Amino acid sequence: MTLLLRGGRLVDPQSGRDGIADLLVKDARIAAVGESAAADAPKNATVIDCTGMIVLPGLVDVHTHLREPGREDEETVASGTRAAAHGGFTAVCAMPNTLPVCDTGSHVRFLVERAEEQGVVRVYPVGALTARSKGEAIAEIGDMVAEGAVAFSDDGSDIADSGMMRRVMDYARGFGTTVIAHCEDAALVGKGVANEGVVSTRMGLPGWPAAAEEVMVARNIRLAELTGCRLHLAHISTAGSVALVRDSKARGIGVTAEVTPHHLFLTEDALETYDTNRKMNPPLRTAEDAAALLDGLLDGTIDCIATDHAPHAAHEKELEFEVAPFGTTGLETALPLVTTHLVHAGKFDWAGVARVLSIAPRAALGLPAVALEAGNIADITVLDPDASISVTREFFESRSRNSAFLGNELKGAAREVVVDGKLVLRDGTVGA
Ligand SMILES: [Zn+2]
Ligand SMILES: [Zn+2]
Repeated sequence: MTLLLRGGRLVDPQSGRDGIADLLVKDARIAAVGESAAADAPKNATVIDCTGMIVLPGLVDVHTHLREPGREDEETVASGTRAAAHGGFTAVCAMPNTLPVCDTGSHVRFLVERAEEQGVVRVYPVGALTARSKGEAIAEIGDMVAEGAVAFSDDGSDIADSGMMRRVMDYARGFGTTVIAHCEDAALVGKGVANEGVVSTRMGLPGWPAAAEEVMVARNIRLAELTGCRLHLAHISTAGSVALVRDSKARGIGVTAEVTPHHLFLTEDALETYDTNRKMNPPLRTAEDAAALLDGLLDGTIDCIATDHAPHAAHEKELEFEVAPFGTTGLETALPLVTTHLVHAGKFDWAGVARVLSIAPRAALGLPAVALEAGNIADITVLDPDASISVTREFFESRSRNSAFLGNELKGAAREVVVDGKLVLRDGTVGA
């Protein structure tokens, strides 16, 4: 397919680019940018008018739960990657806590093959650090790297045994791969379901202290320093965690961090209605924490935004608050939330969006870079900054509807998504 994106504003800080230009895609690559693009386009090229649109290097979500295999009622590779394309992403990193856990080379191969057959966007597998993510024996990391795993994590929980965490980091470092840590001290969390503080007390919900995250952030950073392993911190949620990351970066330790849209744009006050779609792991925190997360994102302490897209079946989320599962879907609301609350609110420019949703997350996990330059792989996100988005149950491509943002009216969304030179989202519709 030959594709001419005409008249869009190309923003890519990797090359210092920010201006109106045409872009020609041919044979899965960017063939030309600028005046030569239209001149070189063959007559049969598909032409997309991008006037008024923002054209970014393809967005990536480094923290997605696709649920396949095991919970295909909640999400599949097919439905999850449709949701990703709808949300403007050209790639997702699939976390390993499926049923069974993705902890061997053959499990990784299954996901790679399923993604080749049914994936709408790229799927990068994340393998488990320990067998069945139980924290007891190191998983087959070498086999999984050979099959295409890009990073390793026991996401869903942390490795309680610090000696085991040290050994897996040592082992992962040998393969030059990244450990993604879900920082949670289970003993400190106990039965906690909401941020420990005034709100949890008033609502009668068991509290989950900030310290339960921060002690493990501190431990995991210290072990990364000891082993030299590259460490990426999943979904940090507290001001204390931001301070720990800031300090460790100042000391030159190889650590990166992500924040989710729900921790940036919601606080514990959102629990007032006992809406289980807002029950998160880690929990929604205070307004002060959310402000510290935004500061961290603005000054580069926090590298990227990741969704922690966590689809759940309706009958499970409809349980009472204390027993309902944790998590919200996120792939389809992340970009509209960022454009609404960061760009239109004047806190962030488009180059900032490219940085936190495309460039920095790729760098954090060592994924291939994508850039809006001739010769590069054509993974591209075209977004309409003024699109009106109503987050209703009908809005979603995801098989699940458990969004913490249902009812929101947002401004800005992906209009076209190009993956490997192919249009997978056109005029806001997947697979058109
Ligand atoms: Zn997690
Ligand atoms: Zn997760």
